[in-house]
Amino acid sequence: MNSPRPPLMHPPMAQFPLQDGEPLVNGVPLGRLAERVGRTPFYAYDRSVVQTRVAQLRAVLPPALELHYAVKANPMPAVVGLLAALVQGLDVASAGELKLALDTGLDPQHISFAGPGKQVAELRQAVAAGVLVHVESALELQRLADLQQQLGLPARVALRINPDLELKGAGMKMGGGAKPFGIDADQVPALLRQCAAQGLAFEGFQVFAGSQNLRADLLCEAQLQSYALALRLAAEAPAPVRFLNLGGGFGIPYFPGDVPLDLAPIAANLAQISARAAADMPQARLVLELGRYLVGEAGLYVTRVIDRKVSGSQVFLVVDGGLHHHLAASGNFGQVLRRNYPVHIVTRSRTTERETVSVVGPLCTPLDLLADRMDLPVAAVGDLVVVYQSGAYGASASPQGFLGHPAVTEVLV
Ligand SMILES: *Cc1c(COP(=O)(O)O)cnc(C)c1O
Repeated sequence: MNSPRPPLMHPPMAQFPLQDGEPLVNGVPLGRLAERVGRTPFYAYDRSVVQTRVAQLRAVLPPALELHYAVKANPMPAVVGLLAALVQGLDVASAGELKLALDTGLDPQHISFAGPGKQVAELRQAVAAGVLVHVESALELQRLADLQQQLGLPARVALRINPDLELKGAGMKMGGGAKPFGIDADQVPALLRQCAAQGLAFEGFQVFAGSQNLRADLLCEAQLQSYALALRLAAEAPAPVRFLNLGGGFGIPYFPGDVPLDLAPIAANLAQISARAAADMPQARLVLELGRYLVGEAGLYVTRVIDRKVSGSQVFLVVDGGLHHHLAASGNFGQVLRRNYPVHIVTRSRTTERETVSVVGPLCTPLDLLADRMDLPVAAVGDLVVVYQSGAYGASASPQGFLGHPAVTEVLV
């Protein structure tokens, strides 16, 4: 006979130690931080958690491998400034993010600009700035050649390859098969010839196949295949490859049963790739480009209970924040099945009593759900409700104008 399976649990959020029931945000008790911020809702990002994460990676990754931060994961200027000092490069995906990256003072040599549908004006800014452009199409390459002529400046280019492989297990697939991202591998040789013919400053390749992957074996397989693909195409390149971006896609645990990524096999795999690259492409800087993995676990979304209602047999806590600030936690940012993010309640009563409650936001839509029937401490009006794992794809990835509530505050602690 099968014994009943224990319910799946969220992994412990050990990056925020509790003191008398309150998460400490870089040493500051959450209640005190809320007073300091002066209002709820807000996002709090803990710089020590980001620093620890980068240090963990640096401790195991091959020294020659560069770490880059994908700004779109969290474009708060203070966060971008923090990362600019911790990693070797920044990757941006719009002129707005390009400005953020340049404002940090980072050498444009170490900034790259990716993404489909870059406008001519944005490409012009990128060439003027001297950043590396990850080219996404034949037309974009032609536009860069024209801009190089017009501005009398070299257009630094890397081709973003849409691999002929699919990265399995990724939460959001962005490579393999027909995709709006990158250039199909079989079209790359023609564009390499175009780079040569037009005298573009060819530097290398980027392969990015997906996001939010918690399977080390699948990430390793994708890195090996990406490397092999880049090596094959390098043979047709007009110049030695000086830049090879193997993407990222490292996931973090959000949901019950999720297991944190095991870095050891990934580090071993990258050490092997790094050694091969030293022989195959001796001039190439190898780059890993991470967004969510660097900042996701460092962020909290903090709301306050404004009402408590009972409907039928269900208890609802209505809080002052919701999907307009944190679309992902409501389950509406790329998830197939809605599941609860890890949630914690700081009760002023410090009760040990618990109940099954749903936490909903102030928007008039059933989608505005932060916790669906979770086991949480019995909360009262005024208590703080905290959503963990909120440091990536939060404020900037949410429809803040929806229903006209104030924009969310963000603090880096
Ligand atoms: C979004 C994106 C990233 C970052 O992805 P994460 O899953 O946040 O690490 C990296 N590179 C490119 C090209 C992207 O579009």
